[in-house]
Amino acid sequence: MSTPSTAPQPSALLLRDVVKEYPGTPPLRILHGIDLTVRSGELLAIVGPSGSGKSTLLALLGTLDRPTSGSVTLEGHDLVGLSGRQISALRAHRIGFVFQQFFLLPGLTTVENVATGLLYTGESAGRRRERAVRALQDVGLGHRLGHRPDQLSGGEKQRTAIARAVVGRPGLLLADEPTGALDTASGHGVIDVLRNLNANGTTVLVITHDRELANSFPRRIGIQDGRIAFDERTADPSHAGTRERPTMRPA
Ligand code: ADP
Ligand code: MG
Repeated sequence: MSTPSTAPQPSALLLRDVVKEYPGTPPLRILHGIDLTVRSGELLAIVGPSGSGKSTLLALLGTLDRPTSGSVTLEGHDLVGLSGRQISALRAHRIGFVFQQFFLLPGLTTVENVATGLLYTGESAGRRRERAVRALQDVGLGHRLGHRPDQLSGGEKQRTAIARAVVGRPGLLLADEPTGALDTASGHGVIDVLRNLNANGTTVLVITHDRELANSFPRRIGIQDGRIAFDERTADPSHAGTRERPTMRPA
């Protein structure tokens, strides 16, 4: 067991005055100057109405897109100074992604799908396969190694996608509505996998519509109209890992 440390942890992500616009006349401003620090080892939820800019923000956090202005710093690397190729390399090593739609390759088995997450390493096919098998065992799919996506349940597909995202052991996992296409029980299974990864040191950031799920996370950030509406933490660390009943408030 590790004991809680008061020493400052390095920032996994640092956003300063990040603006995102899409071209048009006038340009369409989606994010209006976001300031955000995510520390290494955090487990946090991003919530907000549809169209508020959550996925746009995730693309910037994940270096899939560049801001119109402002700075994004990933584990101390300021992206402004890096080339596209350098950013791609950084992303491949440091960040795993999970999306609502799974994006598994239909003709491949789970092991082959997960092993694609290691192509950037240049390791041998045998070594990639070994690591993929272990990653699948870690998400509880050791009995589904030879299945193709159409032979898996929704929850199993998403756990395969998570295994692919983390097989290279990135420090940061970004998930955009990972339970959005799943029934409640499968969704809980997926969230348990994400919590487990976080307990083992991965910084995990999850976009979700599920208020109850968000409320069970130690930090919640609300996005509204491209701005941070709230950024709240649960003081009691034992709160992490529990699921609260939703609080009923008078209308
Ligand atoms: P959320 O994930 O919170 O539902 P998004 O980040 O996907 O919201 O979208 C925020 C806003 O940005 C929406 O109004 C959407 O239509 C707009 N948007 C997203 N991508 C583009 C794009 N490539 N070009 C123009 N507008 C876009
Ligand atoms: Mg979205």
